[in-house]
Amino acid sequence: MGRRSIKKSTIAKYWLKDKLNLLEAKDLKENKFLMKLALQDWSESACWACGRYEDDSGHDWNVWNNAKYLEICHLCPHSLGGSSKVDNLVLLCKKCHKAAPDVKDKEFMKQWIGAKESWMSMQTKSAENIFELYNVTDKMKTYVSGKKKKEFFKWCDDNVGFHPGGENLATYVAAISGFCKSKGLK
Ligand SMILES: [Zn+2]
Repeated sequence: MGRRSIKKSTIAKYWLKDKLNLLEAKDLKENKFLMKLALQDWSESACWACGRYEDDSGHDWNVWNNAKYLEICHLCPHSLGGSSKVDNLVLLCKKCHKAAPDVKDKEFMKQWIGAKESWMSMQTKSAENIFELYNVTDKMKTYVSGKKKKEFFKWCDDNVGFHPGGENLATYVAAISGFCKSKGLK
């Protein structure tokens, strides 16, 4: 009873087996989906669309099975008759799975995966946006991390919800801006 669930490593292995074929595919240059698979670092787990990864230990196939942030996704949706065989399955992070198109023709999904902006570049862009938002320059960054570091941290105790350097970049950047303003530095 019940469908035996397919292992994530089985899916990764299936596409890796095809890697040589991928690299030789005539339309590799035009086909961004194939290009992404061909360039994937298969010894570490990552979302096939955006390349997002989380720390994973080990360099065997189990890295894929242990990657909880990755979901098994159908190229052609199961609800539209897509099979649960390995050639219809890919591994995407939760965010990409949610954002990916749900249509019968597999090509739309492949196109989407191929075109998806990388997680790294999105992160860099959003970081750049925050620095721009608060007009924080490189000069200011150097200022708070140099001689003024202690003073900056002290200022943060009174003006910032938590100690800078944590996960929340907006807080950190706003703090730099606020501190520099209080010092008259532009
Ligand atoms: Zn992703």
